[in-house]
Amino acid sequence: MLKENYNHVLEEVRKTAVNCGRNPDEVTLIAVSKTKPLSDIEELITIGVNEFGENKVQELCDKYENVSQPVNFHLIGHLQTNKVKYVVDKACLIHSVDSVKLAKEIQKEAAKKQVTVEILIEVNVAEEESKFGLTVSEVLPLIEEISKYPNIHINGLMTIAPFVENPEENRKYFRELRQLSLDIKSKNIDNVSMNVLSMGMTNDYKVAIEEGATMVRVGTAIFGARNYNV
Ligand SMILES: *Cc1c(COP(=O)(O)O)cnc(C)c1O
Repeated sequence: MLKENYNHVLEEVRKTAVNCGRNPDEVTLIAVSKTKPLSDIEELITIGVNEFGENKVQELCDKYENVSQPVNFHLIGHLQTNKVKYVVDKACLIHSVDSVKLAKEIQKEAAKKQVTVEILIEVNVAEEESKFGLTVSEVLPLIEEISKYPNIHINGLMTIAPFVENPEENRKYFRELRQLSLDIKSKNIDNVSMNVLSMGMTNDYKVAIEEGATMVRVGTAIFGARNYNV
């Protein structure tokens, strides 16, 4: 079932890209395995899946240590400064950087471990109170500051759109994030790339792809509903 689900979503991702005139290889599907057992990850590895998303540091580290072969784990959830040291050398990409304080801590731990940490800046485009992330106007100043940190490389932007019945309602937020990334790209800031737009989840990944997503983070459509009570 898992493999069929994954292949179905992958097919939809590629079809959506082609239908809007994009190269399907530009869109990476991240299988969001949070709360799901390692056996689910292992099953997907047998069909060549390499990109997984986790939102908790502890869970990412456990899966990283125990998986049978190396795969990429993306940290997509909020990161607390006291957990940075566990994850800087394990996450392939941290999608959720949203403050100078957090970036400073990442720089400190990355320097200690002599690694470069790949990050995205999380933007709360819809300005939902319940969500982490910067407002649009806060993004450029943070990027200018982090661009000076030698052990951090900014790859682009990420957003979590509101939960809505009709994904069309989120189109404007995806469009705004893409426009922001183009504006920042045009400034040619040293050590800053704007090649990644991480946006779109189970309910709205097709609209996100139409608006330029290069990474979609899909959990439920691949793994089924999550049970947080176990
Ligand atoms: C859980 C989660 C997802 C996946 O959500 P689904 O609706 O299950 O596809 C994507 N992004 C983030 C940041 C998440 O926390």
